[in-house]
Formats: sequence, C-alpha cells, structure tokens
Amino acid sequence: MAVNLLDFDLEGLTAFCESLGEKKFRATQLFRWVHQKGASSFDDMSDLAKSLRDKLKDHAEVLALPVLTQHISSDGTIKWLFDVGAGDAVEAVFIPEADRGTLCVSSQAGCAVGCRFCSTGHQGFSRNLKTWEILAQLWFAEHFLRKHLGTTDRVISNVVMMGMGEPLQNYAALIPALKTMLDDHAYGLSRRRVTVSTSGVVPMMDRLGQDCPVALAVSLHAPQDALRDNLVPLNKKYPLAELMSACVRYLAHAPRDFITFEYCMLAGVNDSSEHALALLALVRDSGVPCKFNLIPFNPFPASGLTQSAPSVVQAFSNILTSGGVVTTVRKTRGDDIDAACGQLAGDVKDRTRVGDRMSKQRTVMLHLVRSPEAATHDKPIHEPSSH
Ligand code: SAH
Ligand code: SF4
Repeated sequence: MAVNLLDFDLEGLTAFCESLGEKKFRATQLFRWVHQKGASSFDDMSDLAKSLRDKLKDHAEVLALPVLTQHISSDGTIKWLFDVGAGDAVEAVFIPEADRGTLCVSSQAGCAVGCRFCSTGHQGFSRNLKTWEILAQLWFAEHFLRKHLGTTDRVISNVVMMGMGEPLQNYAALIPALKTMLDDHAYGLSRRRVTVSTSGVVPMMDRLGQDCPVALAVSLHAPQDALRDNLVPLNKKYPLAELMSACVRYLAHAPRDFITFEYCMLAGVNDSSEHALALLALVRDSGVPCKFNLIPFNPFPASGLTQSAPSVVQAFSNILTSGGVVTTVRKTRGDDIDAACGQLAGDVKDRTRVGDRMSKQRTVMLHLVRSPEAATHDKPIHEPSSH
C-alpha cells in the first residue's frame, strides 16, 4: 500500500527513504519538494533520479484532504471544511493580518473534553486525526494561497492549534506535524509562531516541553476549581493547582517567557469583577508569567450560555491590566462565515448530511481545488449549515 508522504516529519521520511535503499539526503530533497514547493506529482520532482521517482510511484503518494466547502469572509478570513472520511469533517481557518498570516488548524474530529461553551465539544468525539491529516490542512492552505495570490513567498507565518479538538489528546500525531511546521526544509516557522492551545492536559504539557517546545496557550475560563470543573470537565482530572505548576515547568523550555491564558467571557458565569480579582490572585500565587486573551463567547443555542456585554468585557480587562497582567480582547474574525472561535463544529453532528453533501459538492470542490481563482468569490460558495 502506498504511504502518504504528508505523514512524515524529516526523520520519518529519512527512515522511509532508507527503507527504499536511498541515501539520507534524498529525503531532504523530497521533503522540500512536498512542503516547500507543494508538489504532489513525482514527475515534477526534476532533480530526483528517474529510478527514485519510479520507486516512489510504486510505494508512495502525496495525498491531500478533499475540500468540501470554502467560505470567504468579508474581512478576508477563509474557512475550509475538509472531508476526513466516514462522514467526519474538520475545519481550518486562514486569518490574514497586515503583518502575518495565521492558520488555525484542527487536531481531532470532534473533541472528548466536552467544554460547555464549545460547539466542537457538544458534538462529542469522533477520532484523532493522523499526522498527514493535520499537515494536509497547512499544506493545502499554504499552496492554495500562494497560487491564488500569485506568489512563491510564504503566506502562512503563524499556526495556532485552535481548531477542532484537543491537540494534547492526540499527542503522537501532533509531534511530527509540529516538527514539520518548524523544519527549515518544510515550512520553517518560528517556534514562537506555532502555538498549541490546550484545555490543560497536564502530563502532555510536560512532554511537549521536552519533545517540541512551542508557544503555549492554556484555556483557563475560570479562577476556581468548582467553576472550572463545570465549564472544562478535564479540570476534575487536572485541577488548577496542578495546571498552574505545569505552566511554570513548561516555561523552563518554552520559546516565549509567558503563557497565554485564554478566557471565554460568559455572561453571569465567569465575568464579574470578583472573577477578575480571583484570576489575579491565582496567577500571582502560582507565579506564572502570563498574558490574558479574553475571547468574546460565540453563542450557539445548545450551550444555553450568552455573551458578556462589551462593557463587562472591558471592565474585566481593565481589572486584569491594572493588576499588572497584559490583557487583550480578541477581535472576532470571520464570524459572518462561522469561522470564529468555538464555531468550528465541522458538521460532525450531522454525519449523514456531510456524506450526502459530499457527492453533491464534489464537482464544486474539484473545481475549487484545481483552480485557485475560484477563491476570488467574496461570498460563500456554499451556505453554511446551521450550527
Ligand atoms: N482544545 C483546545 C484548542 C481548541 S479550542 C483548547 O480548548 O484550548 C480553541 C479556543 O477556542 C479555546 O480557548 C476555547 O476555549 C475557545 N472556544 C471554544 N468554544 C468557544 C466559543 N463558543 N466562543 C469563544 N471561544 C471558544
Ligand atoms: Fe475540546 Fe477545546 Fe472545545 Fe474544550 S474548548 S471541547 S478542549 S475543542
């Protein structure tokens, strides 16, 4: 059976090339063709010997994920829905800014953590993505955007593992994907510009610090265990004291000297001035150098939760800032196409419909994949299903 070369970091690809009786440096050449040039046909890889190309054709392939839909927001944000088979779909979101291009990547179909305010969590867990399915999101987006923008320069400068799923509950597949993002022969992203976001899988935070330190965001959402147990059920397993100690340990290895705490603002639940003061005490007592990122809640009916008013968010932010903690309020991007945080439901709730739609969408999809100029549409190519 052919192996998908998107499933390997450089070390894995080297082992694969050696298994074909090829020298180590061939792996580097191949890695560059696939990730830097976006090649998927071995015939295009002109500096590889014909004998190697023939061997590769017999044993390997570069297989992308089919794109089910593409939506482009009025602010330039693009959301792709990828088919990962058996009725599951995952989403990736490109967010262009003046000084950077960020891709938000999914790590699982669904999520087992089940946070109350997260629509992915409400869908339940379907399965872990493979390394190639994580990397295929970046591979597709980067090369699609280069074609669309008519450039050979890098378009995506930052990756955030903030799409669907809990990346640290898919650790084995995550690490080779991160290593490939960082590798100079692939995407060459700076460790400071690759962020893993976690709901707090403490043992895996320690392993990440050892195996592949990158920027870390921790989804906090509450200053006390009782409230956090309710919002982020994983807190029952790894309560705040353990989580805070893990943050301190992580910083010994991290490329940045602070942890970003994400905090989703939920009206009447976690947004009072007492909560803000308790947060200040929590981070002071645990000694975690940090920044706060307050996320306006993106409501969905099943959650039964509502957004904090902007004035409440501002007051909360002011308390943290006056307490000496740098705090930003996240701008919502792409909300006209349901691409904002926590809206990534991937339609997994409705497996049959994704399946049905796949056949109907295939023509549109193939057209899209083959002709990047389709991306110039400024309105959804396909109406989003209701989340
Ligand atoms: N599982 C990881 C990463 C994916 S979620 C984690 O939880 O960190 C990425 C971010 O989106 C997290 O901070 C999460 O708390 C936030 N989020 C989830 N649902 C949201 C919603 N409905 N509105 C706003 N932010 C949400
Ligand atoms: Fe999973 Fe993160 Fe959503 Fe919680 S917020 S359910 S950990 S994806």
